[in-house]
Amino acid sequence: MSLAGKVALVTGGSRGIGEAIARRLAEEGASVSLCARHLEAAAQVAEDIEARGGRTLAVAADVGRPEDADRLVTACLDRFGRLDILVNNAGITRDGLILRMKDEDWDQVLAVNLAGAFRCARAALRAMLKQKQGGRIVNIGSVVGSMGNAGQANYVAAKAGLVGLTKAMAREVASRGITVNAVAPGFIETEMTAELLEAAKQAYLAQIPQGRFGTAAEVAAVVAFLASEGAAYITGQVIHVNGGMWSS
Ligand code: NAP
Repeated sequence: MSLAGKVALVTGGSRGIGEAIARRLAEEGASVSLCARHLEAAAQVAEDIEARGGRTLAVAADVGRPEDADRLVTACLDRFGRLDILVNNAGITRDGLILRMKDEDWDQVLAVNLAGAFRCARAALRAMLKQKQGGRIVNIGSVVGSMGNAGQANYVAAKAGLVGLTKAMAREVASRGITVNAVAPGFIETEMTAELLEAAKQAYLAQIPQGRFGTAAEVAAVVAFLASEGAAYITGQVIHVNGGMWSS
């Protein structure tokens, strides 16, 4: 599954699933740009990958800000001269029941989780189409984008929207050798899920046939496959990584 010679950009690569993806793509031989709002944590991951022989770039960027997507892709092109793989991983939650949900919580989650992915993909596609050597876009969705989830209307809407964006983009660029897929994790052990109350954790665990939360490395393995040559004929798909919790 070698990604030697490829250049990847991972949004939200400073911890959790994004960090695991950045590390895995680097292990497969890709040069990796990673971004987060807080540069220090991103730079720490980049340094560690470099110490293991990888090539990296850490960038401070907020994908919820329209101007940051182009800047992010430009920084990657300046450092590595090309871009082959974009992983739209950065995501946030602002949970609340719909009657109490504030406009700003709705807007912020949609801005980061959906509009951010759209703008990063648009900027990345410009570079990939110019290169004329195909490319890979992997959007990190969520099982709740298919199932729904009470208390997460903003997050669910954004993740369901990401599925539509994935399918639309896949059709637009299929003839250019660029694949666009989504990976939809179930419940994965990261800081995002560490915030859940113990009772909520137990309720989710009861719904997972494998009886455990997944690991970030298990999500990263699927992303690495979709980024590889072996996945050339897979596009417009949502791959669920959820221990059997939900299937389409
Ligand atoms: P996490 O531990 O909270 O990490 C999120 C990462 O994204 C961090 O690197 C964070 O760094 C970065 N980030 C957040 N907002 C950003 C922004 N506006 N611009 C750029 N970077 C930003 O989250 P995670 O659990 O690894 O989740 C990663 C992705 O998987 C998300 O899209 C999430 O929705 C999805 N997912 C997670 C689970 C799960 O169980 N954990 C399940 C399904 C789907 P900064 O804070 O420094 O910006």
